[in-house]
Amino acid sequence: VASAPAIALGSRFARDLPELAVSWRAEEAPDPRLLVLNEPLAVELGLDPGSLRGPDGLGLLTGTRVPPGAAPVAQGYAGHQFGSYSPRLGDGRALLLGELVDADGRVRDLHLKGSGRTPWARGGDGLAAVGPMLREYVVSEAMHALGIPTTRSLAVVATGRGVRRETVLPGAVLARVASSHLRVGSFEYARATADIDLLRRLADHAIARHYPEAASAEHPYRALFEAVVAAQASLVASWMLVGFVHGVMNTDNMTISGETIDYGPCAFLEGFDSRAVYSSIDEGGRYAYGNQPLAAEWNLARLAEALLPLFADDQERAIELAVESLGQFRPQYAAAWTSGMRVKLGLPSSADDAEASALANDLLPLLQAARVDLTSFFRDLAAAARGDAEPVRGVFLDLAGIDAWLDRWRALGPDADAMDRVNPVYIPRNHLVEEALAAATAGDPAPFEQLVDVVRRPYEVRPGLERYTEPAPEGSGPYRTFC
Ligand code: AMP
Ligand code: MG
Ligand code: MG
Repeated sequence: VASAPAIALGSRFARDLPELAVSWRAEEAPDPRLLVLNEPLAVELGLDPGSLRGPDGLGLLTGTRVPPGAAPVAQGYAGHQFGSYSPRLGDGRALLLGELVDADGRVRDLHLKGSGRTPWARGGDGLAAVGPMLREYVVSEAMHALGIPTTRSLAVVATGRGVRRETVLPGAVLARVASSHLRVGSFEYARATADIDLLRRLADHAIARHYPEAASAEHPYRALFEAVVAAQASLVASWMLVGFVHGVMNTDNMTISGETIDYGPCAFLEGFDSRAVYSSIDEGGRYAYGNQPLAAEWNLARLAEALLPLFADDQERAIELAVESLGQFRPQYAAAWTSGMRVKLGLPSSADDAEASALANDLLPLLQAARVDLTSFFRDLAAAARGDAEPVRGVFLDLAGIDAWLDRWRALGPDADAMDRVNPVYIPRNHLVEEALAAATAGDPAPFEQLVDVVRRPYEVRPGLERYTEPAPEGSGPYRTFC
């Protein structure tokens, strides 16, 4: 008889918002095999790694054995994809198993991706291949280690089922953990039903879960919106500072919590380029590296539209209020980016704000002109603060330009040790991710395991890991991602 680890999974989402939840079950996994388990995360969630490795655990991690009392659902949401509205997206190949309370008392969603077709699947097969699920695992772990809010990956289990893509690939299920799976698209879906009570319940659910202080604000729903604006301004600034390109910033892939979600065609900048696009489907460059703040603001405008009926009874007035609140995005983004750059540049708190901000902005055209590797640049710059400026000078084309910039920077008294604490040595470089996924798909897990280990400690130089600091080999051509 099917059993599963006795874990308590709540179903608050399904109870509060039945209109957004379809009860559903995962497809059978013919031959489940654990590819990777995030033991520290399991412990954080109060789960026993040993039992997750057993048959009941694999049943939980593939959704084929559901703990007593749990009520898995596929979540409904809408979304603007590359600017066009799709009223019915939803979890086409995913399930919310339920909510659990972690060791710190926080509520976390336990969710599966690749667990079979759901009523939202449209033309999709409901499945996921090993490679993309391992990509989500390693990149989300890297983001977490870099201090960037993100959904987490608990495990990837190979199902033993083939998945038809360009070729037949081994299938897998990813167990994902998030502070919730509420998205901008969840609000668009609720708004499109014209059921204001549903919209209000969704907003109340989001407030209770993520921004409880908004409940006692004078205008709780505007406070909710402003909290999401602030969370996203800070999130996207942190992406920009580390050179992360999300690749598919559709409104269904933007969370209310402010966590990064949906690692599909994502990549890290190779040479610095505001126009950098890696996704094969982003033909117009809508989600290019440098467009990400604008894309986020655009998505937040869609959230504001969805929330309008909760802002004021009078629509004109509601729009005025929405515009005013959305206006906070740009200054908040600029402040988050500038303060992040101050830290990356090692500037002491005594450095003048206007000069620090000008210095940070004046660096960008220099980086852009020579397509400088952003990650190595900041580590080389710390070496320059210690007296050896040659490595950093060597990568710029405009030597007079970088020398003048370095003089201004040195005059502010940068602290090299402080820089090394915040500027990563190791990021999941695109070619290394591809190499690790290809090996894992072919049955060799070692490069993947090593890469996970490397990116989990991003700031500390370790001997023998030089190849993890190097850019993609010359001649490897432009990097392309597929989702
Ligand atoms: P994404 O671009 O990954 O955010 O996915 C957009 C939508 O497509 C979501 O509704 C997904 O659930 C759905 N989707 C993606 N891949 C599949 C698949 N293989 N089968 C069913 N639905 C899918
Ligand atoms: Mg998505
Ligand atoms: Mg996806």
